[in-house]
Amino acid sequence: MTIFSKIIAGEIPSYKVAEDDEFFAFLDINPIVWGHTLVVPKQETDYIFDIDDARLGRMMAFAKKVAAAIKEAFPCRKVGMAVLGLEVPHAHIHLVPLKHEGDMDFAKKVSNPDPARMAETAAAIASHFKPNP
Ligand code: 5GP
Repeated sequence: MTIFSKIIAGEIPSYKVAEDDEFFAFLDINPIVWGHTLVVPKQETDYIFDIDDARLGRMMAFAKKVAAAIKEAFPCRKVGMAVLGLEVPHAHIHLVPLKHEGDMDFAKKVSNPDPARMAETAAAIASHFKPNP
């Protein structure tokens, strides 16, 4: 079981943003900017491009709704998307509110983010999430 499956199962706490029957969105524990969110499929797959086309399409549609909520909660030029997957072997999309190109810099992680601010960040994004826009 991956660490993200444990988060989805509630065995490890997370700052949840949204979920549906197939996908789960929560804050990255070491955000590169405030609002940095991960979208993961509930079904474990390591490499995102091993996910079948239909599910991958639905994952993108779910990420799109999360991105819209991030943009409402954290005004930005665009919400950027990145897939790395070098650390956790459970496919995930990084969504990052961008004001400048340099905001998408994975070397700039906040290592001990303030828990109260993380909770506020997740709640702000969650409040703008529209399951069926
Ligand atoms: P990647 O696999 O995309 O290279 O990096 C994994 C990402 O997941 C990192 O940005 C890291 O901060 C985040 N991450 C790793 N472990 C946890 C965790 O237990 N909880 C949360 N919320 N994020 C995590």
